[in-house]
Amino acid sequence: MRRVTLDPRFFRENIRISLGDEHLQRTLRKACDEVLTKRAALVEDIPHWEQLRQAARRIKSHTLAHLDQYLLQLEKNLQANGVRVHWAEDAEEACTEILAIARKHNVWTAVKSKSMTSEEVGLNHFLEERCIRPVETDLGEYIQQLSGEPPFHIVTPAMHRTRADVGRIFAEKLSVEYTDDPEALTQIARRTLRREFLSAEMGITGANFAVADPGLIVVVENEGNARMSTTAPRVHVVLVGIEKVIPTLEDLRVFLDLLSVSSTAQRLPCYVNLIRGPRSHADADGPEEVHVVFLDNGRSGILVDDEMVSALFCIRCGACLNACPVFQRIGGHAYGWVYQGPIGSVLTPLYRGIEIGHQLPFGSSLCGACGEICPVAIDIQHLLLELRARIQSQLNATSLPERLLFRLWALAASRPILYRTGAFLLRVAQRLAMPRGRHLPVPVWGKTRSFPRLAPASFHHRWKRLERELVSE
Ligand code: SF4
Repeated sequence: MRRVTLDPRFFRENIRISLGDEHLQRTLRKACDEVLTKRAALVEDIPHWEQLRQAARRIKSHTLAHLDQYLLQLEKNLQANGVRVHWAEDAEEACTEILAIARKHNVWTAVKSKSMTSEEVGLNHFLEERCIRPVETDLGEYIQQLSGEPPFHIVTPAMHRTRADVGRIFAEKLSVEYTDDPEALTQIARRTLRREFLSAEMGITGANFAVADPGLIVVVENEGNARMSTTAPRVHVVLVGIEKVIPTLEDLRVFLDLLSVSSTAQRLPCYVNLIRGPRSHADADGPEEVHVVFLDNGRSGILVDDEMVSALFCIRCGACLNACPVFQRIGGHAYGWVYQGPIGSVLTPLYRGIEIGHQLPFGSSLCGACGEICPVAIDIQHLLLELRARIQSQLNATSLPERLLFRLWALAASRPILYRTGAFLLRVAQRLAMPRGRHLPVPVWGKTRSFPRLAPASFHHRWKRLERELVSE
């Protein structure tokens, strides 16, 4: 079985490979259906769901419009709590800052809780190359790390794996006896990871939110691994995108209500970690130092782009992936980068440039399921359309036949005689080509689609006939 290439430039080829993978098709559809059904039942029980979505959208829009002020307020409040704040313009700077902290504390092993931002900057690879061992501790991420693959989905990184797959990976990589019993598999991971938590010198996490007042980092999770990563090691480093800031704890309540329903179909997450700073003398545990690295990496460019700024509202819940009929068939790896599905098709070209991500916005049926399910009401299909227009004009990506076809169409549509003659000729061609109900053959385009059948008579013709009938009555 051929494997997909983890590069957005191979999107089309990856689609073909993914569609031919029966195992993937079975597991993916089942996983998406389950989470969507559970989520829908929960949303039905929350009568003010739509108000919550609109409130979240308003908060995000307001915060991003005043991002500089909120970031400065957050920095000041974090520093007052003893947190060391760093700013990174790009991936290289973020990795270098984290490496410097690790070197200063003589770190050889870092336990990590799931962070798409760390995937975005390629932190694991960067640290490994410099002899620091990052250990993923979210169960799904851990499975993916053992198998040498990146996350498949921003919330459920091993969504495409069955328990038998996990059993085989554990048996091969951890030298344990094969089992596909979920309880036994969890215990194996738990035992192995417990040793890592206790011996690691550094914990690395992302952040779901960063609250400007009173200066808090918020990490939402279900497994307790983020709590272990943030409390057991001597040093805790948070890598967070600058768009994750929200003004107050009141605002946090809105997002907490939306996040776990949308991401894992739970009314509440199991753990909400609120991190203020390093341990004080009164604390029984906790890190001696907490560092927060704020990452830009293209975000400030999106911030000043009026058409695309709402892409920064994303709270990485993954709901748009589950709801997307394209993702449901091709899965996450086909998209070739950290962010997958509809929002990935927006973020990848924005973060990495349209030369790399130009195929992705076209991998959508524009059905609108993504925008409808999004808890912060991002109009994702509009963003995809806008990107398509930019790609067409900047890369001059329209093929010659397509350009000629649209010119012809424009010509015909603005000249009634030409239009009617063209329609008449098409009807004749249809009658000749489709004696037994077959569709008009169209080269290339028609390989995966059927040319729509033209009505036997045109609207003008029918209108005239109707007029004649009315007069004669
Ligand atoms: S775009 Fe919306 S639905 Fe998709 S991951 Fe982001 S917040 Fe969730």
